[in-house]
Amino acid sequence: MKTLVYSTRPYDKEYLEMANRHVHKFHFYETRLERRTAALAAGFPAICCFVDDELDASVLKQLSRGGTKLITLRSTGFNNVDLVSAEELGLTVMRVSQYSPYAVAEFATGLILALSRKIHRAYNRVREGNFLLDGLLGFDLHGKTVGIVGTGKIGSVLSQIMNGFGCRLLGYDVNQNKACLDLGMRYVSLNELLAQSDIVSLHAPLTPETRHMINKETLSLMKPGAMLVNTSRGALVDTRALLSALKKQQLGAVGMDVYEEESHIYYQNLSEQIIPDDVITRLTTFPNVLVTGHQAFFTCEALTMIAETTIQNISDFKAGRTNENIVEAKNKMKKAS
Ligand code: NAD
Repeated sequence: MKTLVYSTRPYDKEYLEMANRHVHKFHFYETRLERRTAALAAGFPAICCFVDDELDASVLKQLSRGGTKLITLRSTGFNNVDLVSAEELGLTVMRVSQYSPYAVAEFATGLILALSRKIHRAYNRVREGNFLLDGLLGFDLHGKTVGIVGTGKIGSVLSQIMNGFGCRLLGYDVNQNKACLDLGMRYVSLNELLAQSDIVSLHAPLTPETRHMINKETLSLMKPGAMLVNTSRGALVDTRALLSALKKQQLGAVGMDVYEEESHIYYQNLSEQIIPDDVITRLTTFPNVLVTGHQAFFTCEALTMIAETTIQNISDFKAGRTNENIVEAKNKMKKAS
């Protein structure tokens, strides 16, 4: 099936071509999908998108007018798609409903360890020939309380890892996960989780209910000096409120792989330019903040599964077969990714 791949990076092309084995006809474009670039898809029955592609009502209308029938996402999250409009226009939306949850859970662990032991600062110091330990004092994870918001596939793997470190587990979710309960996780309200946790890690999808769930009010409930880690979606956190909490020294550390305004910044080399975003640039100046560019998913295993599932999605759509990766508008309102 003739498919336009938006937001292509070299690794996307490599893994998709490897999984495809010339079954479908891919056209790889580096450009991000937005209103300005939607016309490129005219004549393509399928398009393949990533997390920062913009699939709002107006883009979807343009896609539909151009003859597109299938949108297949190279991600688990589908918060960037207006599913109601897609359904009205008869567009099928598919995603990669699961790939290595270890990739993201292990990356969240990496952020927790780097921040708790100040490894990001030590790395720079040693390169400058500074071997002093002053300012690098950390804390043991053993015995700490870790609050996991969203205990689905990724949250549950992180729970296992943190359990291995000897942490006490608190969970907040609309559904309880037996695997987490078996580890001794105690499900509590979000407010209680925030008040009791030394480390809070976010793994809920972005939905109208979870947007800005971490805001001025909820940040004020967190233990003084606690760590917040977000590897889910940027808009779970009100970043301006986070900035003021950091300035007031309410938080001990922040690890963020995702940022609510990331779509105009991430997956690009802006090192020769002035970055047009004062919030992210300010955040990178804090010694206790570690920002990464939405890379938690980025392992060979995850890229292989994303590519293979994407090929399967296109083949199933072409053959008129249904599969578990179809996303319908009702999911968005009731269940979430
Ligand atoms: P999942 O569907 O297995 O788990 C999500 C959990 O969140 C579920 O248990 C669900 O019940 C819970 N949830 C839904 N709404 C909630 C609410 N209002 N309050 C509390 N909990 C709620 O998904 P997953 O595979 O674990 O992925 C979680 C999220 O991680 C994805 O939605 C995606 O946004 C993000 N993600 C990020 C990266 C990255 O590279 N940084 C990669 C993959 C996924």
